[in-house]
Amino acid sequence: MAYIVAASKNKHKIEEIEAITKKYGMEVIARDKAGVPDELEIEEDGETFEENSLKKARGILEACGQPTIADDSGLMVDWLGGAPGVYSARFAGEDGNDAKNNEKLMYLLKDVPAAEKTARFVSVITLAFPDGQVIVARGECPGRIIEEPAGENGFGYDPLFVPNGYDRTFAQLTAEEKNQISHRAHALKELERQLKEMGYQKG
Ligand code: IMP
Repeated sequence: MAYIVAASKNKHKIEEIEAITKKYGMEVIARDKAGVPDELEIEEDGETFEENSLKKARGILEACGQPTIADDSGLMVDWLGGAPGVYSARFAGEDGNDAKNNEKLMYLLKDVPAAEKTARFVSVITLAFPDGQVIVARGECPGRIIEEPAGENGFGYDPLFVPNGYDRTFAQLTAEEKNQISHRAHALKELERQLKEMGYQKG
C-alpha cells in the first residue's frame, strides 16, 4: 500500500478522497501523522483552484518530504459570475461558517428564477512528489441551487445543491451516492487516468 499525505485537515474531504484512492492502493494519512506541525497553515491566496491546490500540496510536501495530495474546491454559481469560487470557504467572511455561507447564497439568489440558478462544484486535486513531479486533476459536478436547505449529510453548500439528473441535494444523498458523482470523484478519476498514463499500477 502506498502512502500519500493529505494536505487538508477536513475530515469529510479526507474520507471522500480515501474512499476512492483506497481502491487504487493508495492510503491517505493525516498530515500530523506525517510529522507536519499543526500550526503550519498554507495561505490560500491564489486566484484559481489550480493555484491554491498546488500551493497547498507543495507547502505540505516541503514540511514532510512525502508525496502529498491537496484539494482545492468550491462552488461556482453562474448567476454570480462564478462566485463564490475560490472564496467558497470564507464567502460570509473570515469568521463565517457553513450556515452563514449558505444564508448569504440564499439571500443573493432569492429573486432569481429557478432555471437561472445553475452552478457547479469544482475540485482540483494536486499530487506532488518529492522529486518535483506534479499531477493536477480537475473535476466538476454541474447542478443547481435550490431555495431552502434540505438534508443532513455532507458539509458546506451540500444542502443547497442539487446535482444534474437528481431531485435530491448533495446533503440528501448517501456518502456512497455523492462519491460516485461529486467533483472530487471526477477529479480523482482524472488523477487515476493520469497515474495510469504515467505507468502507475492499480493497487
Ligand atoms: P477549500 O477547503 O479551500 O477547498 O474550500 C472549499 C469550500 O468549498 C468548503 O469550505 C465548502 O464551503 C465548499 N465545498 C467544497 N466542496 C464541497 C462539497 O463537496 N460540498 C459542499 N461544499 C463544498
